[in-house]
Amino acid sequence: RRLNHLGQFRVYTRQSTTYVEPMNDDCDMDGAWEAMKKVFGVVGLSRARSCEKDKDAILACAKEFLDDQLRAARTFKVETKRADKTFPMTSIQLSQYVGGELHEAYDNLEVDVHHPELTVYVELSYYSVYVHTQPQPGEVREDAAYVHGPAESAAGGLPLGMGGSALSLLSGGIDSPVASWMIAKRGVALDMVHFFSYPYTSLEAKEKVLELARLLTPWTGRLTVHVVPFTAIQEELRRSCPEELFTVIMRRFMMRIAQEVARRCGAKALVTGECLGQVASQTMDAMLVTGAVVDLPILRPVVGMDKEEIVQIARKIGTFETSILPYEDCCTVFTPRHPRLRPLPGEVEFAEEKLDIQALIQAAVDSIERVQV
Ligand code: ATP
Ligand code: MG
Repeated sequence: RRLNHLGQFRVYTRQSTTYVEPMNDDCDMDGAWEAMKKVFGVVGLSRARSCEKDKDAILACAKEFLDDQLRAARTFKVETKRADKTFPMTSIQLSQYVGGELHEAYDNLEVDVHHPELTVYVELSYYSVYVHTQPQPGEVREDAAYVHGPAESAAGGLPLGMGGSALSLLSGGIDSPVASWMIAKRGVALDMVHFFSYPYTSLEAKEKVLELARLLTPWTGRLTVHVVPFTAIQEELRRSCPEELFTVIMRRFMMRIAQEVARRCGAKALVTGECLGQVASQTMDAMLVTGAVVDLPILRPVVGMDKEEIVQIARKIGTFETSILPYEDCCTVFTPRHPRLRPLPGEVEFAEEKLDIQALIQAAVDSIERVQV
């Protein structure tokens, strides 16, 4: 799916390797390389050249395809994987032949089988494989040799969906996109929820959050952002709750609504970008009180990280520049001058007694706007 817009590719998996082959010259190979670097579960990527299964064709292919790397290295070895057991040479014989010839051809190269600077990989395939994608799925006979250099590291993590699904609370800040990415990396398919306080927060602020979600899609695939109108609840809390408890009670409402959204989309956990001690709402006492209103586990992958560490990931995944654009978030609307750092569950519950919690949640949930990015 990630390659669909880049041309027609054949994709199939054999013995823990996934092969991606362009089917014609129109394929955007550099685009495909970048897209595949963002597929969780892929540990490493290498670009390979295929050729006829013949020892001299393989040698010529290695010389041409890996010429730059062969010139730059001081030591090397050749490693052969032979799925085709009918090939007339053993793996070791073929490695010795190709290695010996390359050694002759490049004056700079010495063989080092233990710690080579460059390993030349040769694979002899002979497969009947099931091709998953373009243009028609079905059985294909693969009968070729492949030559490639060392793999470059890729996204790592686990394939999306393996870890179930979760609902991530996405603000316009730096932390929640990073938290979402970290949980997606563990193989968890995500839905997003955003609390929107129009007109206290602007349409641009909402657009910014949708853009952050869009920036995550090369890693997560398509996302649904559940945009929850939050203004009525915030106004009600300002009217009827003690100012110093406003933030924590507001966050309890976010959690309750998120849990309801999660129930509807089958998500088994909530994800937040909370980090211990960054702001008043993120003390352990505040986390206890906010977490108390939901049964689902709350995953806080950045809880123990320094801001610098979070920023580093935000830059790597490409969300940082958008996160720092200056738009307001609903958390900064009606912020108390002196928020309670250590709220007690009892006083918060007492303050909430005046509210018709169910009705407030129901009204918000009924007006959710769902945006696909
Ligand atoms: P971030 O950088 O992710 O905005 P923050 O440091 O600003 O986090 P808070 O404002 O306390 O911290 O928010 C903590 C977490 O609560 C966020 O990481 C996010 O998961 C969630 N959150 C905050 N505001 C919203 C919102 N408007 N919509 C959805 N989730 C939100
Ligand atoms: Mg924020």
